[in-house]
Amino acid sequence: MRLSGRVAIVTGASRGIGYAIAKRFAAEGAAVVINYNTSKSGASKLLREVRTSGGEGMIVAADVADYEQVKRMVRKTLAKYGRIDILVNNAGVMIPETFLEGPDDVWDKTIDVNLKGTYLCSKAVAPTMLKQKQGKIINISSNSGLYHPSAMRFVEYVASKAGVNGLTKALALKLGPYVNVNAICPGWIKTDMVAATDPEVEKRILDETPLKRYGTVEEVANAAVYLASNESDFVTGELHLVAGGRGMH
Ligand code: NAP
Repeated sequence: MRLSGRVAIVTGASRGIGYAIAKRFAAEGAAVVINYNTSKSGASKLLREVRTSGGEGMIVAADVADYEQVKRMVRKTLAKYGRIDILVNNAGVMIPETFLEGPDDVWDKTIDVNLKGTYLCSKAVAPTMLKQKQGKIINISSNSGLYHPSAMRFVEYVASKAGVNGLTKALALKLGPYVNVNAICPGWIKTDMVAATDPEVEKRILDETPLKRYGTVEEVANAAVYLASNESDFVTGELHLVAGGRGMH
């Protein structure tokens, strides 16, 4: 119960990595705010699982790219729990289009959710965390935001995650000494996001991964628990790779 008594917002918790993080946080004793955008059934299923295991939580719809909706999510959290100890900026999209041939709106769609969403949610919770003199912000970035050649195909996604990495460090400086801000940079994790990946690309990714396998959502959640708990109190502005060694720097 490493997060006992804490209140955590996890964005994009209706599926994939966010789902696993919120579930694990609840198991560690946190009250979890399960954010979703379109997958209400996924968020509701998670809330049922949390409650069945004796945990506490609620679901809140919000598009992280829309500041009014983000502020409403924060207000609802404060109305119910009175504090916010942890924010996990997990919501993300990866649109597998090529830079030269894809539609023109891929940039806006990607930056809006991955980078602007992370910025807006952080901005909305920061005053509460500073007032509490305590808070942990964890950005789910990607090893694609660090230089390595095979990630460079998805121009917009790479740019958005490189932006998240920069934002992580800037916020760590801005919000210290009371709020720790770190990023997790996962490698290849089998979720809906990468389900349609070309088998040849998958093979190349495994070749580049020293541990020769995909990661699991639970392995990302392990790192999130560490960064959300007191165990990481002296860690801020870090980019924490959970990538089997792929993209190490
Ligand atoms: P996923 O299975 O596709 O799930 C994406 C989640 O983001 C869903 O819960 C979705 O909510 C939510 N979301 C998307 N747009 C949103 C918006 N505008 N507002 C609120 N929520 C929104 O993806 P995943 O693999 O779990 O990815 C989670 C994070 O990890 C992302 O930031 C991704 O870039 C990062 N990541 C993933 C991998 C990987 O290999 N899977 C590797 C590195 C980094 P709804 O379904 O409710 O719309």
